Amino acid sequence: MLRGIQRDVCAHCECPIVDPTVQVVHGALTYCCANCSEASEATGSGSDPKALRHGEDALRCAHCGVPIVHEQTMEARGDDAFCCSNCAAMADSMAEHGAGAMGGPGGSARA
Ligand SMILES: [Zn+2]
Ligand SMILES: [Zn+2]
Ligand SMILES: [Zn+2]
Repeated sequence: MLRGIQRDVCAHCECPIVDPTVQVVHGALTYCCANCSEASEATGSGSDPKALRHGEDALRCAHCGVPIVHEQTMEARGDDAFCCSNCAAMADSMAEHGAGAMGGPGGSARA
């Protein structure tokens, strides 16, 4: 069932939340995933002992650029990594809009 009144978007990267299984809700704010939640909160209370600090080795979402600290929600598309399936879906839909109508299913190879 769709709650079709208003599509939620991530409060951090403004990605439409199409996959609610990875979203994180903090009060009035909804994030597409735990990565965006942590990235947004990192500026405030940086007291999470679980926060992984890989520095410049950290993967970043190819869509919104958030550091990927939760590999459970990470999605990969070829060589690109996304923080979650929402950002991956955004990238997919953008690719569809940009690539005309010749794209077949499963065409993951890009030149
Ligand atoms: Zn996000
Ligand atoms: Zn995300
Ligand atoms: Zn992202």
